[in-house]
Amino acid sequence: MPSSLGVRIDRLSPERDELMPEYSVKFKTLDTNLVHAGRPQPHVEGAVVTPIFQSANYQMGDETTYDAVRYIRLSNSPNHHTLQARLAAVESAEAALVTASGMAAISTAILSHVQSGEHLLTQRTLYGGTQSFLHQDATRLGISHTPIDIAAPEGARTWERALTPQTRLIFVEAISNPLMEVGDLLAVADFARLHDLVSVIDNTFATPVNFRPVELGFDLVVHSATKYLNGHSDLVAGAVIGSTASVDRVRQLLLHLGGSLDPNTCFLLERGLKTLALRVRRQNETAARLARFLEGQPSVRQVNYPGLTSSPSHRHADRLFSGFGGMLSIYLGDAGLAERFLERLTLPIHAASLGGVESLVVRPARSSHLGLEQDERDRLGISDDLVRVSVGIEDADELIADFEQALAP
Ligand SMILES: *Cc1c(COP(=O)(O)O)cnc(C)c1O
Repeated sequence: MPSSLGVRIDRLSPERDELMPEYSVKFKTLDTNLVHAGRPQPHVEGAVVTPIFQSANYQMGDETTYDAVRYIRLSNSPNHHTLQARLAAVESAEAALVTASGMAAISTAILSHVQSGEHLLTQRTLYGGTQSFLHQDATRLGISHTPIDIAAPEGARTWERALTPQTRLIFVEAISNPLMEVGDLLAVADFARLHDLVSVIDNTFATPVNFRPVELGFDLVVHSATKYLNGHSDLVAGAVIGSTASVDRVRQLLLHLGGSLDPNTCFLLERGLKTLALRVRRQNETAARLARFLEGQPSVRQVNYPGLTSSPSHRHADRLFSGFGGMLSIYLGDAGLAERFLERLTLPIHAASLGGVESLVVRPARSSHLGLEQDERDRLGISDDLVRVSVGIEDADELIADFEQALAP
């Protein structure tokens, strides 16, 4: 029976057929699929929840290829099958692959589609880890890249100038970190198709609740599942989602690089995923209220939030997204004021990472983008007074009141 990855899950023997569950169940809506898509059919021993299959290896059947052999590193345990079918369903895609981290998803997705001597186009500001991977590791492997402005009004005409005969892939983020920029993503997908580039988008900040890039024509969606997909700041995981052919190509490399997810973490991620729609819609609402409040504060120089009509990203976000997300950032004038603000806040936790149920605040220049040189951070607008906020699911009034006291002169 073909699985969501197009891999044959061969039967051990005819009489065991009824014991081998299928993972292809899918419903009509995102909310229902988050809870049920890919659940084992029949339920394992009647269990309502997919049990943890803490077994590295499985009895041999009549496997004829290496990747049909069942082994955790090959991402084909029942926990992997359930989670992968669920993620594919919620991103409107054919297939998904879970990985040991968001960076494993990103690096493996890129390296499986680009060779030494080839070239990528990338959004100007990206997650710090992605940026460092491209600058350091990809460059060392002979893979070059050119940053482009995907929000530029002239769009594709300027991107064309960055193309070379070796350009194979374009990598962007749905909402960029930490400036919450939303580019002309529809034009990016069209541009990639026209120039025969593999289009890869990091959908971590938007989540499939607000945006499903495959529906727009993107080839591959990557996630740090550490963030919203899990939503409880208690694990590290990633995902690559797209067509069966593209995901299988990533999977072939993951077999060798080894960044597979273990079944325990699959189980936790599956549990977190069930409440994604509830959490993200609440975070959309609270972040929008907080952004409007902050915009009215004299001590806040600028608020970056695509839901604000004053944001240059609003036009694209409004057209493509069903919600604007739970992330925002603010400029407070200087690093000292930013530090004082962080010290005065009593409710949000001062910590890196994002997307959990608890509100977090951090200065990107001191965390996610600490790996970049100062002049590069300045050029990108990631100044020392920038504070990024990941809005949780706490009471909105209580959260806003805490921001208000922390911003008082
Ligand atoms: C955190 C993050 C990553 C990296 O994910 P890890 O799970 O930490 O490896 C990649 N992209 C974005 C947008 C992120 O926020």
